[in-house]
Amino acid sequence: MTLLISPPPALARDIDGKAISARVLDEVREEVLALAEEQIYPALAVLLVGEDPASEVYVRNKLLRAKEVGIRSLEHRLAENASQNEVLELIAQLNADASVNGILVQLPLPAHIDEQAVIHAIHPIKDVDGFHRENVGGLVQGIEVLTPCTPSGCMRLLRETCGDLSGLHAVVIGRSNIVGKPMATLLLQADCSVSVVHSRSVDAPTLCRMADIVVAAVGRPHLIDASWLKPGAVVIDVGINRIAGESGPRLVGDVDYASARTVASAITPVPGGVGPMTIAYLLKNTLIASQLQRAVQLGGPQVVSVPVSG
Ligand code: NAP
Repeated sequence: MTLLISPPPALARDIDGKAISARVLDEVREEVLALAEEQIYPALAVLLVGEDPASEVYVRNKLLRAKEVGIRSLEHRLAENASQNEVLELIAQLNADASVNGILVQLPLPAHIDEQAVIHAIHPIKDVDGFHRENVGGLVQGIEVLTPCTPSGCMRLLRETCGDLSGLHAVVIGRSNIVGKPMATLLLQADCSVSVVHSRSVDAPTLCRMADIVVAAVGRPHLIDASWLKPGAVVIDVGINRIAGESGPRLVGDVDYASARTVASAITPVPGGVGPMTIAYLLKNTLIASQLQRAVQLGGPQVVSVPVSG
């Protein structure tokens, strides 16, 4: 007797953020070495206010990776109760210091500090997070500026997975200033047709099922499962959510990985997908910042309209 057993569904392949970010870091390291021949040594200042344990881990990882690629890093710490003026004064010093190319303020800041005031105090040409309104505006206009690290990293993952993105339909779930909006803008620049889904969207799963590319940046564990996906879709899971596991807390994405990979063609795991790309693009931005500052010093075309010492 022959048993008819249907084959298991083909599973999506993993998009390996660790391997791709290692390539980005190699590229940065090579360019840093080339700059050293011209006596240019890119430097990143990282400012941490308070002692938030998650922020401590993020800062430690950033400093470690910076060292690995030969970027000098300068750690500045202020106490949890530091005043907004103290933070702004430190930023003004770093803006004026020509040996500092990139300034990163680790978010979130303590509640008594106005995050927007701090972000906009950073000189746009040193704003390696790409959050300053000058860089946001430049991104929308398609000018070469410092672009937020996580969306830039996602674009690299997509290009390495899909090649040319032109004409593909991308759905971005989430519309935050740091991920969703810049992500949608970058996808549009890559000639995708882009839809943005958010908490007020009606029937988000149906909108998502129309997508060749789904980028999830929501902050809701396992919100997106196979029923949200078109067969063969490429899924980028930006979400980092800490949930209780059998052997303690563990990190999961916004996508239900086990379910989604039965329908998608490629998917980023969490951890090991988007996370390492964010740090790699922070360092790439530090390199770009030092190149932009060099161009300004040499009197070249100003891509950012404010003087370096401002
Ligand atoms: P956020 O500022 O909280 O924004 C979340 C977005 O999701 C909002 O636009 C919200 O819509 C939307 N949303 C919430 N519930 C929804 C639902 N049920 N259906 C559709 N949309 C919904 O978060 P974020 O800063 O963008 O971060 C998103 C996730 O990415 C978080 O897990 C964060 O930890 C992670 N993250 C990871 C990295 C990395 O390096 N891997 C970097 C940054 C962030 P409304 O605008 O309507 O409220």
